Amino acid sequence: MTDPSPSSVFERITLCGLGLIGSSLARAIQASGAVGELIGTDHSETVCARADELGICSHVVPSLAEAVQDSDLVILCVPVGAMGELAQAMAPHLRDGVIISDVGSVKDHVTEAVRQHLPDTAHLIPAHPIAGTEHSGPDAGFAELFENRWCILTPDADTPADAVAKLRLLWERCGAKVDEMTPAHHDLVLAVTSHVPHLIAYTMVGVADDMERVTENEVINYSAAGFRDFTRIAASDPTMWRDVFLTNRKATLEILGRFTEELFALQRAIRTDDGEALHQYFTRTRAIRRGILDAGQDVDVPDFGRRAAKPPSD
Ligand code: NAP
Repeated sequence: MTDPSPSSVFERITLCGLGLIGSSLARAIQASGAVGELIGTDHSETVCARADELGICSHVVPSLAEAVQDSDLVILCVPVGAMGELAQAMAPHLRDGVIISDVGSVKDHVTEAVRQHLPDTAHLIPAHPIAGTEHSGPDAGFAELFENRWCILTPDADTPADAVAKLRLLWERCGAKVDEMTPAHHDLVLAVTSHVPHLIAYTMVGVADDMERVTENEVINYSAAGFRDFTRIAASDPTMWRDVFLTNRKATLEILGRFTEELFALQRAIRTDDGEALHQYFTRTRAIRRGILDAGQDVDVPDFGRRAAKPPSD
């Protein structure tokens, strides 16, 4: 095994799943120098071969058992619905004291799905980097994805503080800002900021697709900025988002209920010609956009601040 350099946070890290997030994390960890040896694995032979070609890990090891066996940190970077099965498959091969983490967009479900399979000697610290794009696979990843973006950790109260501190440091070395909260609170917050907005985008693009009196060419040619941004979000990975809605059902339905009430209120304001209500509502929402810009979480340019080549979103 490679000796960790003095600035290493972990001796050996394994990333399971080398798609957008796994391959971005591989690139960011390598660039940070925070690990002695970085192992990558994926259930897809094609993905393993491509990751090997790209040289984003010290070694790509197709066998899950071999990939995890000597690591002091294993991070699950697969769709939320695959986390439990993956944890079960790796459990017999984990070393004592290993930290298990993940990058899944839902935390309550993943915590339960993974924890039940882990040996008592493992420390589970679920995590979610609030960074991503609508692209998938190892070629879509890039090292700067997590820069100045939040990563939320949802450890149990009885997780050793030094294990949490090490994972926090790793994410900071990858450029992220780190926060901690409970899994249930994470799921509610993300239902508001990410999950329901994605559902609305999927719905709006679906509506345009269903409209018989507006042709497909008209939708494409005359798509204004609002609709274009919906189509970008609605191009996100179908497997990932199916799993998000099925596993964050409670919070999604709660926020969707509130959304529907607000929509009815706006609908009534339009029908009753209540311009004052509409203006007040839009003034309030404009202030939220200002807050996001002030917090440095987006930039004030068209296309929601996407950089031309490598767009951060989520
Ligand atoms: P992705 O690009 O599709 O990558 C996922 C990779 O995991 C694929 O190579 C997939 O292979 C592989 N995989 C699936 N099941 C596996 C298993 N059981 N064992 C090993 N590998 C497996 O997806 P992603 O965008 O990186 O998403 C990964 C995780 O990050 C998800 O939990 C998602 O919720 C979370 N996340 C995503 C974003 C985002 O914007 N994309 C942001 C934050 C967090 P196949 O494709 O061959 O199945």
